[in-house]
Amino acid sequence: MERTLSIIKPDGVAKGLIGEVARRFEKTGIRIAAMKMIHMTKKQAQGFYAVHRERPFFDSVTDFMSSGPCVVMVLEGDNVIARNRELMGATNPEDAAEGTIRKDFATDIEKNVVHGSDAPETAAFEIGYFFNGLEIVG
Ligand code: ATP
Ligand code: MG
Repeated sequence: MERTLSIIKPDGVAKGLIGEVARRFEKTGIRIAAMKMIHMTKKQAQGFYAVHRERPFFDSVTDFMSSGPCVVMVLEGDNVIARNRELMGATNPEDAAEGTIRKDFATDIEKNVVHGSDAPETAAFEIGYFFNGLEIVG
């Protein structure tokens, strides 16, 4: 059993996609083990995306991530890191496969509706960034 962090980004919340994204997880047998709404400060967004601090898009993406509320979730299931990335689709919606969340709903490479951890180590860091143990239902 594996865990990953999912975020419905500010564009996804603004577009009314909370239910639709959660439905896609539940429909494929992924369990939501924790869920809450937050509105990150710029500093909190910079901490979350610290791995990207040298990238040209760092300032823009952290502005975006702190521009409105997000829904953060801990997802649980077999191979859930890869399965979530598959449901999300490629970072750039123009490259995303048919039927993926980003293909169906993303605006562009930045406003791409969802985040998902990309490896067990990043999942552990990202889950701990938003949730304490008591908030995750086993
Ligand atoms: P995420 O980490 O959000 O799940 P990802 O792993 O598919 O997405 P990353 O390369 O980790 O993509 O980039 C993190 C986020 O930064 C992207 O999801 C997107 O919102 C933004 N981003 C990435 N590349 C660009 C870019 N070239 N221009 C603008 N924003 C970008
Ligand atoms: Mg990433």
